[in-house]
Amino acid sequence: MMRIDDPLLIRTADMLRKARYPIAFTGAGVSVESGIPAFRGDGGIWEKYDPKTLYIDYFYASPKEAWEVIREIFYTFMGRCSPNRAHEVLAHMESEGMLKAIITQNIDNLHQQAGSREVVEFHGNSQRLCCTRCSLTRPASELTLETLPPLCECGGIFKPDFVFFGENIPEQAFQASVREVEQCDLLLIVGTSGEVAPASLIPSQARRNGADIIEINPSPSNYTATLTDVFLQGKAGEIFDHLDQLLFSDKKNMNE
Ligand code: NAD
Repeated sequence: MMRIDDPLLIRTADMLRKARYPIAFTGAGVSVESGIPAFRGDGGIWEKYDPKTLYIDYFYASPKEAWEVIREIFYTFMGRCSPNRAHEVLAHMESEGMLKAIITQNIDNLHQQAGSREVVEFHGNSQRLCCTRCSLTRPASELTLETLPPLCECGGIFKPDFVFFGENIPEQAFQASVREVEQCDLLLIVGTSGEVAPASLIPSQARRNGADIIEINPSPSNYTATLTDVFLQGKAGEIFDHLDQLLFSDKKNMNE
């Protein structure tokens, strides 16, 4: 575990203070300490479930079967999870003006629940359902999901408003991410393996624009050897807890 006086952490806090437009890019790893497994790796979602459930062709061919698994993973289970220290500190950094936005690949809504405001939902959000016929969207909490697949008043099937394998990235989210990456001079990569394209291309775009890259992950990712300037090896919750103290403890002491 990294100590709070680790030179890499001190350097990171310094880079964050000096950055003009720091943003974060997060993946499944930021929610692991909330109890939500990542897709890949030990204990990952694909050890228990068949990835075909999240292919769009399978969803349209077998909506009831697909929905039975989707309900278990994304609503029964994820619905019970809450933000962890990493989500909280990222929201705190934004409220203190030390983070401009988060581009997240996650669909669990935990950044938003923790209070982050500028969140680009690159892969959508499981808390919304969208009718595949009339495009009406409804909060998932308004539907019981007792009878599957859930149906819209128009008779169409509701689909979670997140990106399935084989679907395009929502245009608005894609454009918003391009705008954020063009502006940023520091990118904080948190808990992503860099395996899922086109999201995986975001760090190299930031790098091309001259941004510094800081990465937080317990294991090296596709970025660590090639793009990352500062690699903070550890769990997101623990590292962000240290960063929060390094960035804001002086301020807290002054207020006491
Ligand atoms: P991934 O499963 O490919 O990789 C997860 C990464 O997180 C790994 O590099 C792993 O080493 C790291 N990690 C594990 N524990 C961590 C911790 N405590 N702190 C920091 N990092 C940790 O995930 P991905 O790169 O985000 O790509 C998978 C795709 O699946 C994405 O589109 C993602 O949105 C989606 N997904 C989302 C959720 C969610 O919404 N919570 C969960 C699973 C998958």
